[in-house]
Parts: sequence; C-alpha cells; structure tokens
Amino acid sequence: MPERDARERAGDFSEVGLGYSEEQAREEAERCLQCRNPTCIEGCPVNIDIKAFIAAVQRGDWADGVSLLKERNPLPAVCGRVCPQEDQCEVACVLAKKGEPVAIGRLERFLGDFDLACDARHRCVAVPGEPTGKRVAVVGSGPAGLACAGELARLGHAVTIFESLHEPGGVLVYGIPEFRLPKSIVAEEIDALRGFGVEIVTDAVIGATHTLGELREELGYDAVFLGNGAGLPVFLGIPGENFNGVYSANEFLTRVNLMRAYEFPRADTPVWRGRKVAVIGGGNVAMDSARTALRLGAEDVFLVYRRTEDEMPARREEVHHAREEGVRFEMLCSPVEVLGQDGWVTGLVAQRMELGEPDESGRRAPVCIMGSEFTVDCDTVVVAVGTRANPLLSATAPDLGLTGRGYVETDEDGATSIPGVYAGGDCVTGSATVILAMGAGVRAARAMDGWLTGA
Ligand SMILES: Cc1cc2nc3c(=O)[nH]c(=O)nc-3n(C[C@H](O)[C@H](O)[C@H](O)COP(=O)(O)OP(=O)(O)OC[C@H]3O[C@@H](n4cnc5c(N)ncnc54)[C@H](O)[C@@H]3O)c2cc1C
Ligand code: SF4
Repeated sequence: MPERDARERAGDFSEVGLGYSEEQAREEAERCLQCRNPTCIEGCPVNIDIKAFIAAVQRGDWADGVSLLKERNPLPAVCGRVCPQEDQCEVACVLAKKGEPVAIGRLERFLGDFDLACDARHRCVAVPGEPTGKRVAVVGSGPAGLACAGELARLGHAVTIFESLHEPGGVLVYGIPEFRLPKSIVAEEIDALRGFGVEIVTDAVIGATHTLGELREELGYDAVFLGNGAGLPVFLGIPGENFNGVYSANEFLTRVNLMRAYEFPRADTPVWRGRKVAVIGGGNVAMDSARTALRLGAEDVFLVYRRTEDEMPARREEVHHAREEGVRFEMLCSPVEVLGQDGWVTGLVAQRMELGEPDESGRRAPVCIMGSEFTVDCDTVVVAVGTRANPLLSATAPDLGLTGRGYVETDEDGATSIPGVYAGGDCVTGSATVILAMGAGVRAARAMDGWLTGA
C-alpha cells in the first residue's frame, strides 16, 4: 500500500498510509487462493467471512464486499487501519507460511473507505428493527459502546449512550492519533449511528453525574451496558515523576488528539512541546506518543524499553513507521529516576537490563545489570507503561462484581453480577484491541436482547 514519505509525514498529522486504488485492491485480492478451508477466518476474532469478501473484491463488487464485512464488523474503515492483522487473520493465511499473506486488513480498509465515500443513500447501513419499547443505556462511546449501541438499535431497542468526554469515540478519538486513524472516519461512523436513532449524551460521567443505580431507578432504563474502558494511567513510581514535563501517555495524547493542542493557540488547549523527549514503554501507546512528539517538533525522541524489540507488544508496522520517522530505540533499559531543576525535567536516569528466564507472560524477563546506570538528557518524559480500570463508576455500584484487578466480572455473554447490567471491552479484559472490544459489544447486545424480550 502506498505511504507518504517518512520525512515529510513526520512534520504533520496527516495520515501515513494512502490506501489502495481500485486496481491495487483487485491485484492484491487476486493473490487470494480462495482456500477450501480458509484458515484466515479462524484467525479473525469476530470471524469475518474473509474468503467471501475478498472474492467480492476479485469481482469488483465493492458493495457486496462491504455488506459481507459489516455482517461481523460495523467499523471496517477503522479496523482495516488499526487491527493487529499480522497476529490475527493474516498470520493464519496459508500464504503466510510461504512468505507474504494476503493483505486482508488493507483490503478491509479499501472497502470501508469505499462505503464512507458513498452518499448516505448508498451506504451499507443496517435497518433499525421494529421498536420493542425497551430503553437501554450504554456507558462509554469507545468501540465496545458504539458496537453494542448499533446492534441494540438494529434489534429495535431505544439506545442512549452516556459519554464522560465532550466528544464520542473513546480511544479512537482521544488515543489513536490522526496520522493513523483520521478523526473524520470515526465522526462519520458516529453520525451514522445517530442517524440510526442512537442518542449520545456527552459530558455525562456515570458514577458522578448519575450512578449506575440511578440510570435504572430514576431514568428508567431497562438495561445497561458498561463499555467504560480501562483508562486510568499507570505510573512508574520512581523519584522525580512529579516534575513538570512528565506526562502520562493518556494526557499527552488526549491533549494532542482530542483537544487538538498541535493547533494551539487556534485550539484552546496547549501542550508542552519538548525538545528532547523520552517515551517509556514498548506498546502501541508508546509508539503513538513518540511519533506524536516528533510531529510536535522535538529534535530527538527516544523510546526507553526494558526488553528487546522482539518482545515489544506494539504492532510491527508501527515500530517500522516510528523508526523510519526518526524515533531512536533505547532497548534493554529501564528508568530509575527523573531528574529536574526548578520544578522542570532535565534528564532521565536509566539502568541497563539483560534478559533472564521467561516470566508469567511467557516472555524473557528483564533483569537489572547492577552499576549500569546512565543519564539521558531530556526535557520531557511520556510514561506509556499501561492503564488499568477506573474505579469511578464501580465505587458507586457496590453490587457490581469485580475481578481482583478491578475489572468488571462477566460471563461469556457479558452479563455482570447485576441482572440487566452487561459489560464488555477493556473494562472487562483490561487494555486489549478495538476488534475485541467491538466483538464483546455486539455479543452483549444480543444477550441483552434475549434478556429484555425474554426470548
Ligand atoms: C494510544 C492507543 C493506541 C492504541 N492502538 C491500538 C491499535 O492500533 N489497534 C488496536 O486494536 N487497539 C489499539 N488500542 C487499544 C484499543 O483502542 C482499546 O482496546 C479499545 O479502544 C477499547 O475499547 P472500549 O470501548 O472498551 O474502551 P475505550 O475506547 O477506552 O472507550 C471507553 C469510553 O468510556 C468513556 N468513559 C469512561 N468512564 C466513563 C464513565 N464513568 N461514564 C461515562 N463514560 C465513561 C471514556 O471516556 C471512553 O470514551 C490503543 C489504545 C491506545 C490508548
Ligand atoms: S487463508 Fe489467505 S489465501 Fe486462503 S482464503 Fe484466507 S486470505 Fe485467501
């Protein structure tokens, strides 16, 4: 798939990948063998009929391809861009064994973009079902909440989404940067959901503006879906973390993506533009933070990760793009202390590591090399070492069963300990992926439909 030149794109927030032309899409689809036993489908967490949608691309029947995709995935233009296909459907493609798998994700993106480019009358949208008279509240408007709301509306229920931020979309708008997922795509999908009859109430923090109990007892919702994510940042707990210039990746990315701080003062929210930026972590969030810091004008951005590149949880494509754009990788080192002067960051002390025996994650554990500390000169530190469950909602819902780590406990269908209250996405699994959150939202919606209608 064509991409913008690394040097040019590192200076702005426009999208990196340019997408397939019709010819390129057909050419790539022609590589698909149309296997009798399409192993790619098992690799997809929502079991999209990949073989059939690629056959539609081979025929040039884009509309059929879109409708096949949307049977299982309501947001193909989003998933085609951000799903870790290399670990899911593409790794299971038979051609992967011989070399290059079919670029399933890029074909999905092509069809998703085709659908978005159609005028409203020709877009592939589900038809709302006969009204059931039941009202459902959905908490959170990330992929889990959006997918759940869409499916509930398709089944005829009246749905209201309550979102704590001033814009809906969850991580798709506040976390994943514009250069990977243009916000206009998410906005189009949300508009389509509104057109479908789903109401979205923003600036509504469940647990503060209303409790979970009040949603049902005072506002009269028959059922509730919790899709409130796992957005509470984890910090390192090292000395100096309170200096100005230390950000959680969540705050850094929210300022830039959601509040458009890169347009300050045209936008209201500023962001500290570091000259030398250290980003701690090795996942997608760390990669997004590092590439964002470069685009804000940093001279030097380096990624501090305690294992090696092989163990990094980030998508290979993101690692490749970050490196191409000039992010420096400091592997096998772990931060020990943030240095500062007059309240501001001036450096980071880190320690060299080596890999020991595998830990409970199955990856070789990093072990400190004593006496190997060194200092890196930096004025900004972005901490991207994970997030966990936010207790705001659960603290006001004493009957809601939680796991030991504070995530919502559910059965396979998403039912919680409270009858009529379901949950899915990161608030159940901890930080995972967009497609898993969407799959959980759709599964819970179908189970809620059964509970609401007694079917
Ligand atoms: C920077 C970043 C990059 C990522 N990159 C990828 C990627 O490339 N590919 C991939 O598959 N996954 C990626 N992920 C993970 C993926 O985005 C998440 O797994 C997914 O968004 C989870 O969806 P969700 O709906 O459960 O939660 P979220 O997307 O977190 O949405 C939860 C929503 O609930 C709202 N909310 C929270 N509490 C309340 C409350 N009390 N009341 C009302 N609303 C509330 C939040 O504001 C938010 O809008 C990334 C995550 C981040 C942070
Ligand atoms: S496994 Fe690969 S070649 Fe076979 S049907 Fe799926 S995408 Fe096509």
